[in-house]
Amino acid sequence: MPEQTKIQLDESEMPTRWYNLIPDLPEPPPPVLHPGTHEPVGPDDLAPLFPMDLILQEVSGERFIDIPETVQEIYRLWRPSPLYRARRLEKALDTPARIYYKYEGGSPAGSHKPNTAVAQAYYNAQAGVTKLTTETGAGQWGSALAFACAQFGLECEVWQVRASYDQKPYRRMMMETFGATIHPSPSEVTEAGRTILAEDPDSPGSLGIAISEAVEMAAGDEQTKYALGSVLNHVLLHQTVIGEEALLQMERAGETPDLLVGCTGGGSNFGGLCFPFIREKMAGKMAPEIRAVEPAACPTLTKGVYAYDFGDAIGMTPLMKMHTLGHDFVPDPIHAGGLRYHGMAPLISHVYELGLLEAEAVGQTACFEAGLQFARTEGIVPAPEPTHALAVAIEEAQACAESGEEKVILTALCGHGHFDLAAYDRYLSGEMENYAYPEAKVAEALSRIPAVG
Ligand SMILES: *Cc1c(COP(=O)(O)O)cnc(C)c1O
Repeated sequence: MPEQTKIQLDESEMPTRWYNLIPDLPEPPPPVLHPGTHEPVGPDDLAPLFPMDLILQEVSGERFIDIPETVQEIYRLWRPSPLYRARRLEKALDTPARIYYKYEGGSPAGSHKPNTAVAQAYYNAQAGVTKLTTETGAGQWGSALAFACAQFGLECEVWQVRASYDQKPYRRMMMETFGATIHPSPSEVTEAGRTILAEDPDSPGSLGIAISEAVEMAAGDEQTKYALGSVLNHVLLHQTVIGEEALLQMERAGETPDLLVGCTGGGSNFGGLCFPFIREKMAGKMAPEIRAVEPAACPTLTKGVYAYDFGDAIGMTPLMKMHTLGHDFVPDPIHAGGLRYHGMAPLISHVYELGLLEAEAVGQTACFEAGLQFARTEGIVPAPEPTHALAVAIEEAQACAESGEEKVILTALCGHGHFDLAAYDRYLSGEMENYAYPEAKVAEALSRIPAVG
């Protein structure tokens, strides 16, 4: 039996290419449509928002795309990231299962987000862009982009979902420390924000609303572009460094995973870990079960419809076919702010429709219970988002304790929770609410998705 606890790669073993799953799929994902004409969008339609290199990655049919040397150099600040065997957690569970976690919390932002932020800032800087706008929920993406912009001398303006802006002041301070400007969203700065505030002055905000604001600002200025931290194909592409490293590390450990489990907000850390394993699975080299875990309060894959919808709340973005709860659905303010998005990545949605992955939803108190058990055994306080995956990994390992099965479980520990201690505090003091699935609110939002085809 393998005895290693920490499986670390050499710097020279860091991937030099990103992996694009699309050409390996049995059928391509449905096209992105223009919101007015409902015709497939071309590269020019996206040019006001993104630099051409990223647009070409968005629609690329190449299996592998070289990571620019400058991006690799910045990645080396924290990559390759370690893979751990959770021996102390296994012992506490008294399970024959072997649990591995790929830890992305050692990055400058404390999560996987810099893997794409650095790449996006690089291509924008190459194209002569001077400023990036974006949205952020918990603040993970905003801090990642603020860091990345600082690397390339770009200005960074961030709309942070109001609920998180109020709950997590340290994330705002971190973004400002990296040099960014932050607005709580909805804000008075944009037309979109003013519209929402006129209807609901106390709006807690949502990722969809914050995206509307950031897109509006970018669309109105030639030198400014927009950056998205999840959902899009190029974002998932950049995150595949996680899975490529994990493949090599599992092989080093002499292990083949039976179950991959990850949390899904927009789907980028999950896709980043799983896509290279899906490639190996389709090639017949392994057969892991692949499972996405989402919050019960925002269950896009398990309860949403698979339909064309907008990526933002107001309806300014192109239409993407994805699992959605309705573009203007505002989830309850769960602490896993990064999982409060109304849609799922179109590519993850498509892969789900193809039957290549499964999904389940978990309530937030069960997640925090798992987070505490993990912190007390493994010594890392997880961000609220990956506690969703940990809850399922622990449940599976407990089932193995009963059945005696030696299942090999691999999960993405996509971020630490050092800025989320107020949420742990609420859990510890017994004040944490367990939001149910908001059926009526979803039904209402779904009645407003656009009719396509
Ligand atoms: C942003 C974020 C998420 C959710 O985004 P995905 O694109 O689904 O990965 C999950 N966990 C952490 C730590 C995040 O920062």
